[in-house]
Amino acid sequence: MTIGLDTRLREVLGKKTSEALSEGLGLDTVGDLLGHYPFRYAQRGERTDLGALEIGEEVTVAAQVRAAIPKSFVPKGRGRGGRPGGKPRDLLEVIVADEAGRTLTLTFFNQAWRAKELVAGRWGLFAGKVAQFRGRLQLNSPQYQLLAEDAVTGPADSAASAIEEFAGTLIPVYPATAEIPTWNIAKAIHTVLDMVPDPPDPLPRSLRERLSLLGYGTALRQVHRPDSHEALGAARRRLKWQEALVLQAVLVRRKAEAAGEAATAYPRGGVLPEAFDSRLPFALTEGQRRVGDEIADELAGEHPMHRLLQGDVGSGKTLVALRAMLQVVAHGGQAALLAPTEVLAAQHHRSIVEMLGDLARGGELGAPPEATRVALLTGSATAAQRRTVLDEVKTNTAGIVVGTHALLYDGVDFADLGFVVVDEQHRFGVEQRDALRAKADRPPHTLVMTATPIPRTVAMTVYGDLETSRLTELPAGRTPIATHVVPYTDQRWMARTWNRVREEVAAGRQAYVVCPRVGETDQKTNGGDEAAAFAETDGDKRPPLAVVDVIEQLRGSALSGLRLGLLHGRLDADEKDRVMRGYAVGEIDVLVATTVIEVGVNVPNATAMVVLDAERFGISQLHQLRGRVGRGSHPGLCLLVSEAAEGSSSRERLDAVASTTDGFALAELDLEQRREGDVLGAAQSGMKSHVKLLSLLKDADIIEAARAEATELIGADPELKGEPGLAVLVDDLAADRGEFLEKG
Ligand code: ADP
Ligand code: MG
Repeated sequence: MTIGLDTRLREVLGKKTSEALSEGLGLDTVGDLLGHYPFRYAQRGERTDLGALEIGEEVTVAAQVRAAIPKSFVPKGRGRGGRPGGKPRDLLEVIVADEAGRTLTLTFFNQAWRAKELVAGRWGLFAGKVAQFRGRLQLNSPQYQLLAEDAVTGPADSAASAIEEFAGTLIPVYPATAEIPTWNIAKAIHTVLDMVPDPPDPLPRSLRERLSLLGYGTALRQVHRPDSHEALGAARRRLKWQEALVLQAVLVRRKAEAAGEAATAYPRGGVLPEAFDSRLPFALTEGQRRVGDEIADELAGEHPMHRLLQGDVGSGKTLVALRAMLQVVAHGGQAALLAPTEVLAAQHHRSIVEMLGDLARGGELGAPPEATRVALLTGSATAAQRRTVLDEVKTNTAGIVVGTHALLYDGVDFADLGFVVVDEQHRFGVEQRDALRAKADRPPHTLVMTATPIPRTVAMTVYGDLETSRLTELPAGRTPIATHVVPYTDQRWMARTWNRVREEVAAGRQAYVVCPRVGETDQKTNGGDEAAAFAETDGDKRPPLAVVDVIEQLRGSALSGLRLGLLHGRLDADEKDRVMRGYAVGEIDVLVATTVIEVGVNVPNATAMVVLDAERFGISQLHQLRGRVGRGSHPGLCLLVSEAAEGSSSRERLDAVASTTDGFALAELDLEQRREGDVLGAAQSGMKSHVKLLSLLKDADIIEAARAEATELIGADPELKGEPGLAVLVDDLAADRGEFLEKG
């Protein structure tokens, strides 16, 4: 039988193995399995950093046995039937260590015999879930594979070992499951590699030769069974190139297609936009003017705009979007603004209506003739409100429609949707944006706004088919926010913190207190299994502070007498709106909230923010949060309260946030510390499965070069007729694109 990448694994592997690969890892074909790359390579004596393990993580570590200690213990009398005690059981504790001497405990119940093979000095791979017990990290009943004994025992012995290649250099460690550990995956891959001939190479020959890239087959073999570090590096480079080229070809082609589409042109100028501009109480910033011109020209063009607008918190993106919306409305089109939360949608609606003044009173007595209406549609609208809004949308009475994903539902019919604005885009799935765009008769113009700065290569990949604009300066007259780190355990500092809040309130201002957790029902349930019972620790870290608890404490002491409001994601929409309104009009002095306020909430009178357990937030998140204060003419103050010890990496992050208000600088720092998957975000699952080796952060050179190659290839041969192998991969990924790409 000839085997190729399409061959089903069950035809070449045993039933048990192929089922475990399919069920546990979703690997069904030879191609799937060969595309399941090792996530790292273990080496004897390697510096597996046992200090960097995270509780709850499934890990495979290479480590050396230090000691095996037989013990017995009496199970705790809890759980099933509440029987007290139980008969004593065997417990084997095995201490393993990494090269640097950091240790990890392995526990085995009723398997005392393992002490015979887990002898001091042996190296092994140990796989399991990291748990914590009495402050120590451990793996409970790990799977393991011992490595060939050291050369001390003589070459003859180690040659006999089934895992002799360990004595060589690099052992692939695969993402694994409890059903199929990494060494069994490796075995399956070996079997397949020995049977399969080199597959056809999808990369253009000229490119391969010019860049001296390995052939596809060689690269697959070397990535799974590297001969050396050099060979592995070459294999990975080649496979990354393939990922990058396919991805960029999809994006470049989409961009070209979109550029060829016809859209409604909305000329610049008009009575409504001019009336609005003449009433603005302030001058546009230089950036707002420049980006505004770019957008205005594109709206006036024949092809749909696809633009990403990045701008730091408070840089005035909403105003840029509103001016663009008015250009569309002035010429008979409608504009929709999609916001990620009800709080934000309601706030956008309020501030747009406010900025427009009587220009938002279309159809009312005494309103100027050019006026339009601004509709708000969220999931919490009553049936009657909804009917009114739907009618305004359908008849084009409302030129501007603001809403949450409720805008996407069936039954929301636009008379003439010409422009879609998506605010804080990273909160949306792509399907949702597509659903809104599908409500337009012709491809609408699209503006995506984000306050999270995105490095160039990420923008090129995740938003590779959008043009990009940046607002780099803040409007004049802003007072900078002063940020300080406050040690939670220092009573005097804490007292001073709450006094500062009181002072702000006494001066007529308002404040936020932010906590990482809601509280109430978000307790984790404990499984009844042995490991969980055992992992119940005395010395565990306390849970993160919760808004529902904190507000009670503050009410009773530090902030007694002030008017406190509670806001978190689990309140119903009416309640959220009521609280936000109360805060906006100054009926609430201090808002105790979760990160629901992170994005876009705009109350210029708020001047102070206290973030509790600040180390639990990301750098960019803290920057977004503090952007909520100092939005008016009074100086803003942000206090980051934390238990993080001086010099710890958490504390360094907080110090970084305190040291600068440059959002782009902080975003870069944040990215360095985040994992690749987080960079892509939750909405990009389709891309995550395509981009396996390529790092959007570290492989900037490959990504940029692949972009240039793809532009040339697609420019010369849009259908890739001359590169059928590549065309198949590009079409496959394009077919998946709804899962991850901005719809063009
Ligand atoms: P972003 O959405 O970029 O975070 P917003 O559009 O919400 O920022 O603007 C923040 C605040 O700044 C709003 O109150 C807005 O009215 C105000 N603003 C916008 N542009 C200017 C400007 N050119 N001069 C002064 N204030 C401005
Ligand atoms: Mg905003």
